[in-house]
Amino acid sequence: HHYIEINELEYIYPDGTKAVEDVSLYISHGESVAILGSNGAGKSTLIKHLNGTILPVKGSVNIGGTPITKKTLKTIRATVGLVFQNTDNQLFMPSVFENVAFSPRNIGITGDELQKVVEESLDKVDALGLIDKHPFKLSGGEKRKVCIASVIASNPEILVLDEPTAEIDPKGIGDLVSILRQFSHTKIISSHNLKFSRSVCSRGVVMQEGRIVFDGDLDEIFSND
Ligand code: ADP
Ligand code: ADP
Repeated sequence: HHYIEINELEYIYPDGTKAVEDVSLYISHGESVAILGSNGAGKSTLIKHLNGTILPVKGSVNIGGTPITKKTLKTIRATVGLVFQNTDNQLFMPSVFENVAFSPRNIGITGDELQKVVEESLDKVDALGLIDKHPFKLSGGEKRKVCIASVIASNPEILVLDEPTAEIDPKGIGDLVSILRQFSHTKIISSHNLKFSRSVCSRGVVMQEGRIVFDGDLDEIFSND
């Protein structure tokens, strides 16, 4: 058994768009996997299945032996931290501190311990200096860092990031690479940026029209260019 198992997944949106078709994918503990493909390939839809943002309708997703269902959602969400593509939807509290504090507060952490968790999480993404800022005053790269800090604050085993380089300048992307490389978490990262993906992940999964058309060493994709 693999740590993460996606079996024959299919997903059709209510308007009839088939976004994911016959996707099976097995990921080991500690692996870093890039999900690549052009716009509309199905990356976001697949990624949203990994923490039950979309519940599997056809096929299944198992995390550490637990199938993702409505019943297991609470356990799954504690294990899988998802950083969405759109940072503004995740930065819903009026300060960086409050945003990062949101999940740990939810599981009962308060006072000095909460302060410590928030500071450590921000420090891990090199953003401690932003703690008192209003999220909407941040740059794209800073917003992304705060979103990542907010997700790691609840200490998930698996980190899933949907298009993390969106709205970040080249220097910010370099910073993001260093930050992500320091995390020992199992990582699944969707991106259409090959260079970024290769800097963080060794394995690449390429999607096209909802299907996996390549799964292997990212360097091989480069040599085929
Ligand atoms: P990617 O992340 O690779 O850009 P998506 O998973 O967002 O791909 O989209 C896959 C397909 O599903 C595309 O054809 C897209 O237009 C469609 N799609 C995405 N979200 C929805 C939705 N909410 N309703 C209908 N179709 C959608
Ligand atoms: P994200 O990856 O954060 O969902 P997207 O830009 O892919 O960001 O999509 C933004 C929103 O629009 C999502 O809720 C997505 O499901 C929806 N969406 C994307 N493509 C379509 C589509 N073709 N029809 C309807 N809704 C869509």
